[in-house]
Parts: sequence; C-alpha cells; structure tokens
Amino acid sequence: MDTGEMEMQVSLDYETLHHKYLEERDKRMHPRGINQYVAVEDAFADYDDDPYAGPATERAPIVECVTALIVGGGHTGLFTADALLKVGITDFRIVEKAGDFGGTWYWNRYPGCRCDVESTIYIPFLEEMGDMPEERYSRASDILAHTHKVARHLCLYEKALFQTVIISAAWDEASHRWIVTTDRGDTIRARFICFGSGPLSRPKLPGIPGIETFQGKAFHSSRWDYSYTGGNDRGNLTGLNDKRVAIIGTGASAVQMIPEIASSCGHLYVVQRTPSAVEARDNGRTDPDWWNSLRPGWWEERAVNFAAVSLGVTLDDQISDNWSATWKRFTIAGRQDMAAGQTDGISYTQKADYAKMEEIRARIKKIVRDPVTAEALKPWYNWYCKRPLFVDGYYEAFNRDNVTLIDTMGKGLTRISENAIHFGDQSYEVDCIIYASGFETAVPPDRAAGFAMTGMNGVTLAERWKDGIRSLHGTFVRDFPNLCIIAGVRHAAASWNFSLIQTIQTRHVAEVFRRCLADGVTKFDVRKSAEDAWLAEIARASTADVQFLSECTPGYVNNDGQDIDKGLYSESYGGGVLRFSEILEEWRHRDLGEDLELT
Ligand code: NAP
Repeated sequence: MDTGEMEMQVSLDYETLHHKYLEERDKRMHPRGINQYVAVEDAFADYDDDPYAGPATERAPIVECVTALIVGGGHTGLFTADALLKVGITDFRIVEKAGDFGGTWYWNRYPGCRCDVESTIYIPFLEEMGDMPEERYSRASDILAHTHKVARHLCLYEKALFQTVIISAAWDEASHRWIVTTDRGDTIRARFICFGSGPLSRPKLPGIPGIETFQGKAFHSSRWDYSYTGGNDRGNLTGLNDKRVAIIGTGASAVQMIPEIASSCGHLYVVQRTPSAVEARDNGRTDPDWWNSLRPGWWEERAVNFAAVSLGVTLDDQISDNWSATWKRFTIAGRQDMAAGQTDGISYTQKADYAKMEEIRARIKKIVRDPVTAEALKPWYNWYCKRPLFVDGYYEAFNRDNVTLIDTMGKGLTRISENAIHFGDQSYEVDCIIYASGFETAVPPDRAAGFAMTGMNGVTLAERWKDGIRSLHGTFVRDFPNLCIIAGVRHAAASWNFSLIQTIQTRHVAEVFRRCLADGVTKFDVRKSAEDAWLAEIARASTADVQFLSECTPGYVNNDGQDIDKGLYSESYGGGVLRFSEILEEWRHRDLGEDLELT
C-alpha cells in the first residue's frame, strides 16, 4: 500500500460511507427482483433475431447417430471439441443457433466491444497456434476472427450445423442416447450431450412500462444493427450522425459503447439506474520480443497465476494489470485481518475497499467537468458488488455537449412512449433506443439454449432444479445421464478468465467419456450420494458472504437483492478454480463407479 492509500484510509469516515452504501442500495431494491425484466420471447422475440447472418440456406434435414453433441459453438464449444479430439472422439456434432462460431463474440459486436481480461490468457489456443494478439486487451472483432481460425484449424466447420435451433432433447432409455430435434427437421441421436450455452447468453430487456409502444428503432446491445447505425466495432457510426439515441443501462456493455456512440450521434441520452465503477484499461500493443521470449507451457502458467492472484494465493503476479493490482491490495488487507483482526469493528479488507472506491470516485470528479453529472456518476458500493470495469473514455464522454446523463436515482425510466423516454415530468424525444440491459443469469443451461431438456422418467431440468440446483461438480446431473454442463458457473468454479475453467472442465468430461467408451459403458448417471456430497461441499466451501452480498446494490452478483443464496456467484464453488481443478483431477484417479451408476 502506498502512502496515498494509507492516508485515504485514515481520512475516510467509514460509518458515513457504510450508511451511504445502504441508503443507495435501498433506493434500488426492486419489489420484483429478477422478475422485473422482460424476456426476449413472445411479443419481444424480435429482439433475439440475428442481425449478422443472412437468411438461413436451405438444407435437407439430417438424421444421424453421433458419439457426442455439443450445444453451442462459442468458446466452450471449441474447447469441448478440442478436448474430445484429443481423446480420440471424432464423431461429434456442434449445433449452433448463430450463423457461425463465436458465442459471446458472435453476438456482442457493439462499437467499442473488447475483452478486459488480458488477451494472452483469454483468447483460446494462442500458444498452440503461435498467434500473437495485436493488443493487450483485444477487440471483439479480433477475438471473433481468431475463433473462426481455431474452428478451421480443428476442422470444425464440417461438424457444425449453424442457424439451427434445438427444440427438444430427450433421454431415450431404450437406446441409451439423447434424441435431439431441431427447427430444421434434424434428428440427432447422441451418446453424450455437452452444454456450452454459457451463463450469460439470453438477452433481457428492462421492465419499463410502455416499452412495447416505442415506434422508433430499438435493439439490444448484443444484437447490434449496423445496417442502421453504420460503422463497425471501431466506431464511425455514420447512420447515427443526425439521430437522438437513448442507451438504457450503464453496465459492462454500455460503458464500452458509450464513448463510440457519443462521438458519432446527434445526441446521446444515457439512462442510468446504478453507476458502474470504471477504471483505466491501460491497453497497449503486444511486444514481439516479450512474446518470443515466452517458454512452452506459458499459457497455463500465466492463466493459473492470474487465478492464484485473484484468489489471494500469491502476490507473485505475472500479469500485473489493473485487476491484479486491486486483488493484491485486498490480499494484503486480508492478511492484516488474519494477523491482527480489526480493532474498530471494520476489517482491513473493508477499509481497503472503501479506499479503492473512494479513488474511483475521486477519478470521476477529476475527469467530469460538470459537478452535478460527476456526482451522479459516482458508485456507492463495494468493488465486487458490480463487475469491475476497465474502459478508457467513458467518463470523458460526459464532457461532450451532445451527451446528457439521465440519472434516474436508482429507479429506471418512468415510461417509454411512441417517440420518447420519460423520467418523472421530463420527456426526451429519441429516434433510437439501445437496450444495454444485460442477460438472464442463473438459468438452467437448456433455458440458456432456448429449449427444455427431458431426462429420465420425463422430468425436465427446470423441474429437477425447482427447489435448487443439484449436480456433481456443476458438470453432471442425476437423472440426466451422459450429459455434461461446461462453464455454467453454478455449482462449478467461477473464474474471471473463462478460458481457464473451460480448459479444466472440458479435459475432465472428455476423459470421462473416453473411459466410458473404452469400458463399454453406454450410460452413466450420477449417484444421489454424489450429488448430496457435492451439495454439502458447495455449502462447506462457500465464500458467499451473505452479509456482504445483502449490503450490495442489486445486480446479478446478488441475484438482484433477493434470494441471495440463489445468485450466480452464491451457487458457484467457493473453493476457487484452482482447488476445483484439483478436485476434478483427484476424482478422475478414482473408480468412475464410485460416484456414477454405470450401465
Ligand atoms: P449488466 O452488467 O447486467 O448491465 C445491465 C444494465 O442495465 C445495468 O446498468 C442495469 O442497471 C441496467 N438496467 C436494467 N434494467 C434497467 C431499467 N429498468 N432502467 C435502467 N437501467 C436498467 O449487462 P451487460 O452490461 O450487458 O454485461 C453483462 C456481463 O457481460 C458483464 O457483467 C460481464 O460479465 C460481461 N461483459 C464483459 C465485458 C468485458 O469484458 N469488459 C463487456 C461486456 C459484458 P442496474 O445496475 O441498476 O441493474
């Protein structure tokens, strides 16, 4: 900790801050919690349409039998395919609703879109393919291009069915296979089924009264309509030059696109319910000399190090970015807590958090010229309550004459009408509304993929989990034989770098499949005792601090403030991704039959 940080801690009035945080949280508590949002279905189904692919080309329905079916052609799908190929499973099919591979990076193409986890450890298979990323934090379009390159490298295009939506998947006990049907008339019988449908894939809309009445242009941030806005993910949105645009939301997606829209459009209204905490990105070009100096095995070493620093396991930091700087700060504070304990009822960790957020608030004050706007942009919650963000130019956008912040003080818009957005007595006529309102979270993987899956005895996954999620390692589910869920986060470890968890989990399931095939096992199902034990382990290892989460401003981190123990993070494995990896490895050394009923 430097002297400035120590001084900041000393001068902060913790009691007033705590009170302020609770007051700001209370303003935002919504009586309907996660049910306040509008799903992109029925009258709102158009918001889910694919603006990037042309009309689907005609093809004959496919009727086939494969060893594995992978749901989704995003990064999880690629990691799964790679892991299957590595254990010699080559006859698999990938079914993808989109027009190409990419997943998150297929859908999220909005201007300014980037990944804020370092590209060297995030972008898949860079080490194997020898590809040096241009920048430290890559653009969405560069990540997508690389994803397509990986798919070609692994010869996956011939295995993919694009623009194909699964409409049902049902376990057939007679043949020990999953029978999967699609909207293109396909029937695929698969020994194993793998879900790579992601924890944040179904867009959601804000539950603003009158949303359906708007007659102008409207779309969700993950379905960007460049035919309307012009330009590309680098900006230059010429179609917006004379347009009045409203953006609803100031979360991770919004803060990246706001600088780009602001510099292109006639006028931008930013509708804020809760301010984000945005820090500098600190991007740069990759140094080829450094890149060439990396030794074989570097990817795993760096990815594991990033995770270890995030978990407070080490202060030896190979990535050294703005993420890890804060993690180390919290780790040092945590060690002080362990050593001395607090003397005034406030932990060193909490003091470090107050100081961190105070620095972010000071940064806003320094950048934003209008003091009222600057005040409204300040976040009043702990650092982990919302996803930490690293974006350049966000706060600066509010210094432009053509940008107006509509701070709804935690409430959201009052209503939307045919040609305007309304907050209180104020109306703002707009031509276009962009909903940067996020995604459904903590939903079962089949819901994320858009269909209902039926396991043994005709039970759907939603029914099976109606009283709470049950699984073995967040990967296998009883009564859903030969099924695996990858990177679903719930009941598995979460990681700031998804590529690590995808690597760990896909290696695991590929090895289970390989052993089943080698041993002539046509069906595996999780024993009840194994699910019970994992549920107990989830509870034992939980680091979900209910007090901390309940004091957070509502958001997906705390399940919008209701049923906090059911949120995306409360339900993930609290022992961390590194211990999770060890658990899976130890498990693989045991007899599969201990936790799985093998037929
Ligand atoms: P998000 O973080 O869930 O943000 C949704 C935004 O919509 C929030 O600002 C929310 O306000 C606002 N909102 C919802 N209902 C509203 C209403 N009625 N009125 C006004 N505002 C309303 O969604 P996202 O920005 O799409 O990001 C989702 C996740 O994707 C991120 O958390 C992150 O994990 C990932 N992501 C990562 C990156 C990156 O690498 N940097 C970039 C984009 C996305 P409240 O906060 O008040 O609810």
